[in-house]
Amino acid sequence: MVDKRHCRYHPERKSVLYCEKYEYGYCDECLEARLACSDPEEYCKFRTHCIIWENGREEMKKRRASGE
Ligand SMILES: [Zn+2]
Repeated sequence: MVDKRHCRYHPERKSVLYCEKYEYGYCDECLEARLACSDPEEYCKFRTHCIIWENGREEMKKRRASGE
């Protein structure tokens, strides 16, 4: 069962944000680590206001630029 009130990677921590598409929660440490969207290539209707997506966007641009 997914619990978006707690971090996906740190279940003992409260989440400060969550992925609205998959309903994964993330703590502030995960946010600091600039985690990327778990599915950046997939269409997501929440993307326009998604902090996770914003975090991962630069990384994805770099990857695209290097031709992967
Ligand atoms: Zn975490």
